[in-house]
Amino acid sequence: MSLFQDLVIAYRILAEHGIIDAYGHISVRSPTNPAHFWMARSVAPELVTEADMMEFNMDSEALDPQGRSPVIERFIHSEVYKSRPEVMAVVHNHSPSVIPFCCTNTPLRPIFHMSAFIGLGVPNWEIREAQEDSDMLVRSAYLGESLAKKLSHHPAALMRGHGAVVVGESLAVAVGRSVYLEQNARMQFQAEMLAGPSGSITFMDDKEVAANVVWQEYGRFWNLVRNKMLKKLEAEKAA
Ligand code: MN
Repeated sequence: MSLFQDLVIAYRILAEHGIIDAYGHISVRSPTNPAHFWMARSVAPELVTEADMMEFNMDSEALDPQGRSPVIERFIHSEVYKSRPEVMAVVHNHSPSVIPFCCTNTPLRPIFHMSAFIGLGVPNWEIREAQEDSDMLVRSAYLGESLAKKLSHHPAALMRGHGAVVVGESLAVAVGRSVYLEQNARMQFQAEMLAGPSGSITFMDDKEVAANVVWQEYGRFWNLVRNKMLKKLEAEKAA
């Protein structure tokens, strides 16, 4: 298995789970140079191949572009890698169930044990605090830095009216957290509807969160979805 193959698989898994659609991206820090990272050129995630992978430095400059267009919002990735040395993978998505939680005063909270990391805090980034009249996109290192500051040491941050940034110490963790962030948002919305305005919801408490996050590397999840996707890619190649 190669780094690029795993990165292609990560793009495809996120697309299959509805976490990214025509937009959204995932990157991985270079295993040989921690000041560089890899991500696909500007193309819909389901169409990504290994030939689309581009290497960037911490200023989001492509090292060998070969005429390929980089994604505009690559600054999300470079600024997070700069400020979080332990982070090895970064996802930026427009996860649909998550959006309502970034434009209301209802905070996302851990309702489901596989999403325990939410209990570590998921701050909400308001782009207007950095730039008025933006087009909502993280088009500059300045905006990327503002987002990375809001993310701080947390596993994810919401982006008001836009989506989320999700980080991990591995591809498996960044992908797993992205999938379970979406699931938690959907379940929390369902619980709010079931409970009604006067009902109450029991969320995970801090001790339960602490007891879960220590083992949540999403290894079994990654192994399953990766194997399924490998078979699918092989079938596509053979067709
Ligand atoms: Mn975006």
